[in-house]
Amino acid sequence: MDGKTQEEIGATPILLQSSCYDKELLLKLNQEEQLQHFVCLICKQIVNNPVDLTCSQHGNLNEALVAGENCLKTYLRDNNHCPVEPHENCQYSKNRALQKLLDELVVMCPRQFQASKQISQKDNGQPFIIAYYCHFKGKVKDLSNHLENTCPLKLVDCWFGPFGCNHVCVKHELKDHLTANLQFHFSLVMKTFESMQKIIQSYQ
Ligand SMILES: [Zn+2]
Ligand SMILES: [Zn+2]
Ligand SMILES: [Zn+2]
Ligand SMILES: [Zn+2]
Repeated sequence: MDGKTQEEIGATPILLQSSCYDKELLLKLNQEEQLQHFVCLICKQIVNNPVDLTCSQHGNLNEALVAGENCLKTYLRDNNHCPVEPHENCQYSKNRALQKLLDELVVMCPRQFQASKQISQKDNGQPFIIAYYCHFKGKVKDLSNHLENTCPLKLVDCWFGPFGCNHVCVKHELKDHLTANLQFHFSLVMKTFESMQKIIQSYQ
């Protein structure tokens, strides 16, 4: 095992696809003014699956009350009252018009964004070689397809995971890992094989 940790690779292992988007990420390719209607009133980031709060208790407020569906549901589960004013039976409905506008915003790859951030935090004057770079710039609506299918920074498990190798790396590095660890993987398979043989023998 060459023991690379996820932190060294600099990719985010899991992105919660239902939670709101990091505002900093959206600000990379959009102006602050473009984003002002998309701010989640709970987390202050950019809404994902926007909902309107439509409670009659504060129906006379002039500002639009928009939250990410996931943020609101989590909030209501933990607090049992509306996030705007402390009253029960918070009413809300999906804001499809806002969702449509949101879908058309441009965004860079969140994994690349995360990786660049970690690199700049580590930067102490040393030149840093970025092995893999995701050039994705596209619409928000195409983001999940990108992250799932075409992102070069997506982490994959080693093929020998079921035998006990817990190495994770970006797709392009998997071949190197497999080549460099033939012996190790072989011994893992043998160990599994031997323990299965013992089980079989104990039943005979
Ligand atoms: Zn939110
Ligand atoms: Zn309310
Ligand atoms: Zn990507
Ligand atoms: Zn492995």
